[in-house]
Amino acid sequence: MIVVMKPGAPQAQLDQVIDHIEQLGLRSHVIVGTEITVVAALGEKRDGAKQALETLDGVDKVVPILAPYKMASTEVKKEPTCVEVLGLKVGAGHLGIIAGPCSVESREQILEIAHLVKGAGAAGLRGGAFKPRTSPYSFQGMKEKGLELLADARHATGLAIVTEVMAKEQVELVANYADVLQVGARNMQNYPLLEAVGESSLPVLLKRGPSATMDEFLLAAEYILKTGNTRVMLCERGIRTFEDHTRFTLALASVPYLHQKTHLPVVVDPSHGTGKANLVVPMARAAVAAGADGLIVEMHPNPDKALSDGFQALTPAAFRQMMSECRRIAAAVGLEI
Ligand code: PEP
Ligand code: MN
Repeated sequence: MIVVMKPGAPQAQLDQVIDHIEQLGLRSHVIVGTEITVVAALGEKRDGAKQALETLDGVDKVVPILAPYKMASTEVKKEPTCVEVLGLKVGAGHLGIIAGPCSVESREQILEIAHLVKGAGAAGLRGGAFKPRTSPYSFQGMKEKGLELLADARHATGLAIVTEVMAKEQVELVANYADVLQVGARNMQNYPLLEAVGESSLPVLLKRGPSATMDEFLLAAEYILKTGNTRVMLCERGIRTFEDHTRFTLALASVPYLHQKTHLPVVVDPSHGTGKANLVVPMARAAVAAGADGLIVEMHPNPDKALSDGFQALTPAAFRQMMSECRRIAAAVGLEI
């Protein structure tokens, strides 16, 4: 349920509402909007709770939250959320660009790429140190050494570091080096991991599972929000369909759909979403036109030599082209890079 306070209701009345919600055995979550303050009462349905809350001083009305996800829903918070870390701003009119290699491979590689990313005007540096690979024989990432190199790249450029955490036991380690914790597509429904990143003070980039519905995706985000971390970015990265002309099927309708259902920002990954370098720039343009709040793309100075996903990596020149085209589309749809 959402308890909508009357405009100008004093703090004492708000405190009384919160106390009452907690006495009912529900969790309270206060959202201060530009015009009104609402308190979400979260938990199992309680008989008589609605009526009891409606009679409290300062309460305008009590309305049910219809969506299965609560804190993520636009029913609870209408204003879009902007997730901000260092110079990276994603959401509420800001288009955040995150770029970098699939995997951190060496000091020279990540520093060279970081300078290219920065020079092209992006604000986030991606790069996997712990890599979820389909084959156990593939390169598994540089692990902690890779995290150290990412932190060096932040030091050299000021870019916000976005890197994957694969298991709940790794959250503390990865959080020591990263600015954004990425939960990969394969882990979207790893609930202990979602709760562990929910306890972190760092923002989270949650990638859509390749077979997850929108409700499943939003309920995964809800685990993180409910645990206490409100800085969640959703990432559409393509789903598994019968199609095989692309690595995954990049479902861009999810961008406007999610904007109707949630206040959380939506980032698009056209690299994993297509798996083909020559399709990445057009789909990045399409994502911005569809209203994406951010892009995460793979870029490598020498894609043929990349240790992972070279086939979908943009060259630095193609990345610069993407940036300039996306800037023009962003301006046309009222977004700021
Ligand atoms: C990645 O972004 O490095 C990655 C592994 O992507 P996904 O989890 O979407 O497959
Ligand atoms: Mn990759």
